[in-house]
Amino acid sequence: MSLRPPLRSAYRALSLTLMLVSAQGYSFTETEENQTTAPSQAEELQADQPRAEGQGEEAEPLAQQPDEAPLPQAENLQLDQPIEELEVPTAAEETPQPPESSTASGEKRAAPQPDSPPAPEEQNRPLRLLGAEVPPATATRLAWSPSQHFEGVYSPTPVLVVKGAKPGPTLCLTAAVHGDELNGIETVRRVMYNLDANTMSGAVIGVPIVNLQGFHRGSRYLTDRRDLNRHFPGDPNGSSASRIAYSFFHEVISHCNAVVDLHTGSFYRTNLPQLRGDLQNPKVVKLTKGFGSTVVLHSTGAKGTLRRAAVEAGIPAVTLEAGAPMVLDERSVSHSVKGIRTLLNQLGMVAKFRLWGDPEPVYYNSTWQRATTGGIIFSEVQLGQFVRKGDLLGTVTNPITNVRTEIRSEYNGRILGMAMNQVVQPGFAAYHIGIQAPEEQISPPEEVTADSEQAVEESAGSGEVGAPHEAATPATDTESQPPAEESDDD
Ligand SMILES: [Zn+2]
Repeated sequence: MSLRPPLRSAYRALSLTLMLVSAQGYSFTETEENQTTAPSQAEELQADQPRAEGQGEEAEPLAQQPDEAPLPQAENLQLDQPIEELEVPTAAEETPQPPESSTASGEKRAAPQPDSPPAPEEQNRPLRLLGAEVPPATATRLAWSPSQHFEGVYSPTPVLVVKGAKPGPTLCLTAAVHGDELNGIETVRRVMYNLDANTMSGAVIGVPIVNLQGFHRGSRYLTDRRDLNRHFPGDPNGSSASRIAYSFFHEVISHCNAVVDLHTGSFYRTNLPQLRGDLQNPKVVKLTKGFGSTVVLHSTGAKGTLRRAAVEAGIPAVTLEAGAPMVLDERSVSHSVKGIRTLLNQLGMVAKFRLWGDPEPVYYNSTWQRATTGGIIFSEVQLGQFVRKGDLLGTVTNPITNVRTEIRSEYNGRILGMAMNQVVQPGFAAYHIGIQAPEEQISPPEEVTADSEQAVEESAGSGEVGAPHEAATPATDTESQPPAEESDDD
């Protein structure tokens, strides 16, 4: 109970109270019902569902369960209802009752009952995720907890799911893998709460705050000061960060046909809204084209990043960078939302978002310009500005000696990211300059479909996801990684 007030106030500040109430409701029930094993989402959801066999084995990847094993059906919630209207049905969930009668929100909008069978002519199977079965035309909230965690202290991470009435790919949106990166949290909220399960094709899984530990402390890192985004796809026997990464990767990411991981700049740097992806991968290129008029930076991603691990597991993934840490800025959020809605349209999942026409993205390679001296940096350029070789980017002034040093561009390019005014050390990566990439560098795009789902799930089930990659890497500690400022995001 003691976790509740700070949790709630933090969420309220971000208008995310809806899912909090739900997640907490589940977790309290779960604690009463099951005190011997680590809490799992499957068990939490059973508060209002009949018990199904095999639900205690939450560490097992879902794909290892027999395909026909019964799972509790997720309740269809009206995600866009105000919190007050949802509190009553949430409380009622703690009393076991058949799913039919628990759809308290059904009167507000005619949604298919969870038990109604999917249309026979379409192969739209329920989405099996986190120990629950989400039927077509259902929006719901699930929760993910790392398989091994400090019970009673670690809070479950809310996972929003909208499963469309029609078949299609599963797109995953993840935010706040770095706990101090707020724009993505708001972006995921706006996207998820604007989807209509009754008309949508495929599914969208939205995790607004992957790194709850960091989020509560306003920190980029986990509580052990490791960077979660250097530990994917994780290791069930590794460090705490590796175990958390492993659990998230296998329980959530392995169910995705495509991933958009939302980030911001790091360490008082801000980014022009931009995608980062491995443009040698045709499916990743297809994803980047889906975002319409958005800058795209070619990068394979640091080892251990969620997007790189996903791509290596056969799941196309991009990072969407926008803005700076600890700041919510409307321009970054609205650009990101617009981009993702355009992507949903391009992937054939929604029909209604026609926001950007057909403008092509612009592809860049990039390089950093660094402060050569320490001091206070003031910039002369703005995000998105085009610069020419020799242009003054900013100055660094030593407050003790009053010596001022200029930073001048060594390239013709565009400012994709930059330091905010601050005190810098010599070598600080101050300006991220994009240089337009030649066309031949970009692989021809390849469709992203639900077809790859089976292969991915099989590989997740066998525990093989990322295994070769991990085996080749001796250590995954942050100490063995390049300094975070080398890659300002991701
Ligand atoms: Zn980040």
